[in-house]
Amino acid sequence: SRKAGTCSRVMLKISGEALMGDQGYGLHPPTVARIAQEVKSVHEMGVEICMVIGGGNIFRGLQGSAQGMERATADYMGMLATVMNALGMQAALEALGIHTRVISAIRMDEVAEPYIRRRAVRHLEKKRVCIFAAGTGNPYFTTDTAATLRANEMNCEAIFKGTKVDGVYDKDPAKFPDAKRYENVTYDEVLQKHLGVMDASAIALARDNDLPIIVFSLDEPGGFRGILAGSGTYTRVHG
Ligand code: UDP
Repeated sequence: SRKAGTCSRVMLKISGEALMGDQGYGLHPPTVARIAQEVKSVHEMGVEICMVIGGGNIFRGLQGSAQGMERATADYMGMLATVMNALGMQAALEALGIHTRVISAIRMDEVAEPYIRRRAVRHLEKKRVCIFAAGTGNPYFTTDTAATLRANEMNCEAIFKGTKVDGVYDKDPAKFPDAKRYENVTYDEVLQKHLGVMDASAIALARDNDLPIIVFSLDEPGGFRGILAGSGTYTRVHG
């Protein structure tokens, strides 16, 4: 089976909240720069990198619809939030000398490229980081599903899901000191036990295409690169 340490093309999924640092909202430039540095160190290994960044640090569809907005409208606002995050990350990567393309599922040609699958593949072959923005382009989905969809389309060997903790636990490690981390867990276990790795549609899409999900800590300096080099702690979600 495919190992995390042998990937040549990966999808990195991070939440919007990962960009806000200690702030309660928006983008925290030093935090964005730090994550860009983590991406750079993997890029230097010759790994082709896709990214999907959420939008929860700016706007979530459910938050808007809870306030009486139509769900679809609120979801489009959420998708636009992901474009802002993608542009922020692009700026940080390019400041480090990494050529980066923002590819939007919703056309906005002045701001980002439209999504054309074969064109995105070409960017990756040329070692450009591709940030897939605006989710799937459809309401009622999440950026976890968008990451899984694009990872499948780009033939990524795995999705790396960067979180605050170094893997998937049987219960919340922030609340329970005796929480146990899984080394390996199946898609079905994640779904049955509601382990909260990604939403159910993203897990099912990964399962149906045998795409492993590597859950790791984004707070661990060098962690992303370490896993790709064959070390570090993480949970591997697989079939
Ligand atoms: N969204 C959507 N369709 C998609 C992806 C995202 O409608 O394909 C909207 C949805 O409203 C979501 C918001 O964009 O709440 C932000 O994405 P997400 O909640 O996945 O961000 P994260 O939690 O990863 O920061």
